[in-house]
Amino acid sequence: MTTTELELRDVDLFYGRVQALRQLTLDVGEGEIVALLGNNGAGKTSTLSMLSGLYRPRSGTITWRGKDITRAKPWDLVRDGLIQVPEGRRIFSTMTVHENLQLGGYQTGDPKALAARIDEVYERLPRLAERRAQQGGTLSGGEQQMLAIGRAYVGKPQLLLLDEPSMGLAPLVVKQVMEIIKRINDGGTTILLVEQNARAALRIADRAYVIENGRVSLSGPAAELAQDQAIIAAYMG
Ligand code: ATP
Repeated sequence: MTTTELELRDVDLFYGRVQALRQLTLDVGEGEIVALLGNNGAGKTSTLSMLSGLYRPRSGTITWRGKDITRAKPWDLVRDGLIQVPEGRRIFSTMTVHENLQLGGYQTGDPKALAARIDEVYERLPRLAERRAQQGGTLSGGEQQMLAIGRAYVGKPQLLLLDEPSMGLAPLVVKQVMEIIKRINDGGTTILLVEQNARAALRIADRAYVIENGRVSLSGPAAELAQDQAIIAAYMG
């Protein structure tokens, strides 16, 4: 039995009068990869943004490593190692690969530790090392995704939130990105992975939740969901 790392209980999130999350309840165990699947508008990105402290739920609780973070500030969460890789990567296109990585460790405050951490990224992702002086905007889509993940890794994530890392990538590149995510997880980082590409996500995830209309409609071990006829029909067509 794994220790619970992250727990959402009965979370309601509103944007004005629009309700994005409804009694959302889920948990992520320490060291797990948990996938959040669902169609456009289901509430996946809202869940991640809320976990990063950008939105506050109207009701319900969020607990991370035993601490109530329902009303925590984004910068405190980042400092403590809850780090998000946003949808669409959001790398700085006119800055070099190296400068982008340096930004991932702005909260470190220790140049030596930061340099060591960036070296570790280069070791794990040699493609980025080769391109350290190249402008972010000129990287391929897959390389940009690697850079976004590498930048988050520099911040020493305990819990890494990934928003659709496969978006816009060719199948082979999706496979490579998923392997990188798996490797980071093998190093001890817990991962919450939002994906529309259920097939790719279920390959590396331990468990998954399907979100429909702001609430969990289905959940279970990834290997079981990958065989589920309803999931195959709805999300692996
Ligand atoms: P996608 O895969 O398309 O990004 P998603 O599952 O991530 O979808 P969300 O982006 O979380 O879905 O959106 C959930 C609902 O909340 C949608 O109905 C969306 O229109 C609404 N929503 C999201 N962000 C805002 C916002 N800033 N203001 C108002 N409504 C929003």
